[in-house]
Amino acid sequence: MRLLLIEDDPMIGKAVREGLRSAGFAVDWVVDGRSAEASLADPGYALALLDLGLPSQDGMQLLRKLRAGGATLPVLIASARDAVGDRIAGLNAGADDYVTKPFDLDELIARVHALLRRHAGAANPLQCYGALVLDPLQRRVTLRGTEVALSPREFASLEALMRRPGAVLSREQLEDAVYGWGDEVGSNAIEVHLHHLRRKLGAEAIRNVRGVGYRVSELT
Ligand code: CA
Repeated sequence: MRLLLIEDDPMIGKAVREGLRSAGFAVDWVVDGRSAEASLADPGYALALLDLGLPSQDGMQLLRKLRAGGATLPVLIASARDAVGDRIAGLNAGADDYVTKPFDLDELIARVHALLRRHAGAANPLQCYGALVLDPLQRRVTLRGTEVALSPREFASLEALMRRPGAVLSREQLEDAVYGWGDEVGSNAIEVHLHHLRRKLGAEAIRNVRGVGYRVSELT
């Protein structure tokens, strides 16, 4: 899943980006309000992490614009503004959660997972579809109770498909979910990941809907 990190502090931004990457997320990082606004127009993000004190446009202003435009993207504010009034204002402006700096990185990641889960309408941390079970926290997949070893990109491809079980995702949507800016993406990279997934999970696991994209099958 691809996240947008909006943070002007280079040390914090770097640490958060690395933490999220090692948790398996693709992360795009912007350092000012104006580029954040431009990036938020991209519908490919699963969640935004929003700092409030930013050059060129304040985070609260960005958030209000985002919600006024009808965007449902989950937003987690991470700010040094720790007064109760600031936290209330952030949540009331449409943020889904608010953490104050300094925060614990593991807790931040746990909150990201919780927000993504709720946004997908799920309460169970495990994503289950037929005989397939995907654990986004442990980054494990089991098929009929047996663990299947996947590469990080294979896992990310399957996770994107399993977030919307039965729905057809285009190659571009899968690329958006699996890769961040600056990642090298070969022209047939997604096809290669899906080919490996089929080899490991069975040919019927991933369906190719010709000319449209791919969907995950409900395996028995
Ligand atoms: Ca800041």
